[in-house]
Amino acid sequence: MGAHLHVACQSGAPKAAKIGTLSSKEMLFFSESVYVAGHSPSQSRRPTMSRKLIVGGNWKCNGTQDDVKRIVEFLNKAEVPCTNHIEVVIAPPAPFLPILRSTLRSDFNLAAQNCWTGKGGAFTGEISAEMLMNLNVPWVILGHSERRTLLGESDEVNGRVFPQQVLLSMHLWCPMVAEKVAYALSQGMKVILCCGETLEQREKNETTMVVARQIKAVADKIQSWNNVVIAYEPIWAIGTGKVATPQQAQEVHANIRAWLSQNVGEAVAQAVRIQYGGSVTAANCKEIGSQPDVDGFLVGGASLKPEFADILNARISIRH
Ligand code: PEP
Repeated sequence: MGAHLHVACQSGAPKAAKIGTLSSKEMLFFSESVYVAGHSPSQSRRPTMSRKLIVGGNWKCNGTQDDVKRIVEFLNKAEVPCTNHIEVVIAPPAPFLPILRSTLRSDFNLAAQNCWTGKGGAFTGEISAEMLMNLNVPWVILGHSERRTLLGESDEVNGRVFPQQVLLSMHLWCPMVAEKVAYALSQGMKVILCCGETLEQREKNETTMVVARQIKAVADKIQSWNNVVIAYEPIWAIGTGKVATPQQAQEVHANIRAWLSQNVGEAVAQAVRIQYGGSVTAANCKEIGSQPDVDGFLVGGASLKPEFADILNARISIRH
C-alpha cells in the first residue's frame, strides 16, 4: 500500500552555479547517470521508498458551466482506488474553482493553473496564492509549457523581458517560474512544477540539460521539496497525440531523480513524485505508468472526458 510521503531530511541546492546554468559537475553527473553506469537509468536508480500515485486533470482554458456540471457528474460517479493508493487533483480554469470546491467529491483535490509570483496587489488579471488558499484550493500548476511558450512566462532580466528564443540561447529560462513556486510554497500551497523540452531540443540531445536547468532554477529558490510534485511534460507530446514511449519517459524521470539526488539530496530524490504528461490516454497510461520512476500523470485533453476515470483506474502498481 502506498503511504503519505514524509521526507526525512532536506538540504538546499548548491548555490555555486549561476542562475539558469549548470556547473560542469552537475552536467557530468547527468551524463554519468545515463551512460557510465552501463545500465539503463531504470536499472541504475531503482526507487527505494513508496510514493503515492498522483494524477492531475488539467482542463486548460476549456469549458462552460454546463461542461463543469457534466464533468463533475462523471468524476463524482467514478469508482476509483482509495486515497491511500492515489491522489487526484483537478485543475479547472480559475473562474470555476469555487463551483468545483462546492460540488466536487471531497476525496479529489483542486489546483489552480497559475498564480502570481508574490503577494497580491496592483497586478491586473493575476491570482495570488493567498486567494487560492482562501478558496481552499491547495494545489497550483506552475511552469506549464503553454504559459512558458505562449505567454512568455520566463525571465525578467534587469527590468527587461526577453523573448523566448533569446532566453533559450542565454540559458536563462526559469526564474519567474521559480519565484512563483517559492512564493506558493511559502503560503502553504502544494505545487505541480512542469518541465520539459521542445522537439528541437530533444533532437539536439539537449533534453537532460533543459530539464535540469528548469529544475535547478527552482532548487536554487526553495528550501523544501515536501510539497512539490514534478510533471515531466515533453512539449512535443502535449496536445499532439504523440505520446513519449515508456522508455523515453522513464529515462527522463530517472535523470530528474538522479539530478535531485546529486544536487538536493537522496531522500528528496526518492520522495519527490514525478508525473508524466503529454497525450496521456486510457489506452497508453498503463504502460507508461508501469515504469519505476513514473509516479502518475498530468492529463490535459483526456481529463475532460469520462475516459479520465479509466486513467484513474488503470491499476498502476504502487511504487516501492
Ligand atoms: C497538459 O496540458 O498538461 C497535457 C499534458 O495535455 P495533453 O494531455 O492534452 O497532452
